[in-house]
Amino acid sequence: MDYSISTEDRRRLERLAEIGHDEFRPAGLRADRAAAPLPADDPFFERMLALGFGRTAWRPQGATADDATRAPNKAGSAVAGVLLAEEGAYWDRGIGVAMCGPGLGESPVLGMGTPEQKERFLSPFLAPARPVWGAFAMSEPGAGSDVAAIRTRAVRDGGHWILNGAKAWSGNAHRALWTVVWATVDPALGRGGHRAFVVERGTPGFEGHRIEKKMGLRAYESVSFFLNDCRVPAENLLGGESYYQSRAGFKGAMNTFNAGRPAIGGMAVGIGRAALDESVRFARDAGLWGRQRVRDRIERSRRRLKSAMLLALKAAWMADRKIPNAVEASMAKAAAPVAALEACAFGMELLGMTGGAGEHLIEKLHRDVKALDIVEGTGQIQRIVMARGLVKLPN
Ligand SMILES: Cc1cc2nc3c(=O)[nH]c(=O)nc-3n(C[C@H](O)[C@H](O)[C@H](O)COP(=O)(O)OP(=O)(O)OC[C@H]3O[C@@H](n4cnc5c(N)ncnc54)[C@H](O)[C@@H]3O)c2cc1C
Repeated sequence: MDYSISTEDRRRLERLAEIGHDEFRPAGLRADRAAAPLPADDPFFERMLALGFGRTAWRPQGATADDATRAPNKAGSAVAGVLLAEEGAYWDRGIGVAMCGPGLGESPVLGMGTPEQKERFLSPFLAPARPVWGAFAMSEPGAGSDVAAIRTRAVRDGGHWILNGAKAWSGNAHRALWTVVWATVDPALGRGGHRAFVVERGTPGFEGHRIEKKMGLRAYESVSFFLNDCRVPAENLLGGESYYQSRAGFKGAMNTFNAGRPAIGGMAVGIGRAALDESVRFARDAGLWGRQRVRDRIERSRRRLKSAMLLALKAAWMADRKIPNAVEASMAKAAAPVAALEACAFGMELLGMTGGAGEHLIEKLHRDVKALDIVEGTGQIQRIVMARGLVKLPN
């Protein structure tokens, strides 16, 4: 296996480290201490836009390859994506999600949208004059891990679909231009009944947006909202009518996740590496470096983080070659947050009240990393996926 990346991606990685140091970490700390997401009009986002963030990977038909205009965090391969995710999260994971751009909503539009839908929903992210966001809403108050259990209903009414239901934890959905909302056309069909609708900001019945409190990753908004007789034009059904007939909805959603899991693994490793750096610095400054037990714990943390990173890179390497990677992606997603949690917990232990007093980075990292164990399928759910894969049951 070859985990090397292009010269362009290598440069992007170096640039991200600079931006992470100068911008991500200070902005993430600012939001965390204020216990509130960075406001949409925070000058931080304008600066990020100027640096090339906040753009889509989509290009209009016939556009020439323009590697140089790709956003600093958009990689040329899945392997480079894991490395960039790791570096970004090292500086601040919450900022990575808060970042303007189409976000998690981009993948279903790219993967399932018709050419017209891609143009309509992604062109605002080609060269935006101001920061704009997209969002993704699958989870519901009664359906988190078991996404097949979503209850938001979509019923056809002439040239529209009427959506009714409630969604939870959707990142950036309050400020987003549009949100990809998953609904079922027939609960009796289970996963086969799932469809994705692009619900645009201001659509009547798309309402009650509430920003939830979170223990970590506070830099971005996690939003609950309602769909009350929300009339969505038929042309906003992702993939259009033919896709609707093909009943491939759930597969579309799972493709979003399989693509994202190795990167989530990378992000967890990035947070763990930041925690480890804090522990090493403290051990040196406090004269604890000579103690064998301290060195042992640091070595163990580093080894586990490295192993988790290799799992994430392997899953990404397979994705780059279009080799089915559901099990490997789950392994990476299950292993990395646990390794990172251990690195953070060790840091808290080592720093004692210096870390626990609430002003030290280690304490924020400890809160941030827990959320990564939950997003895009909890550790328990990944273990179920892996076990089913081992006995060759479909997932
Ligand atoms: C920071 C953050 C950001 C998020 N962003 C988004 C977003 O942008 N869009 C979106 O749609 N959702 C988002 N989510 C929601 C996330 O996907 C769900 O929280 C996640 O799927 C878990 O669902 P739940 O919280 O309802 O927990 P539950 O599903 O209720 O699970 C509770 C516990 O039970 C365990 N469990 C559940 N089922 C089983 C089982 N069969 N066997 C063993 N254990 C089980 C779980 O592992 C977990 O530990 C976000 C969540 C967080 C925390």
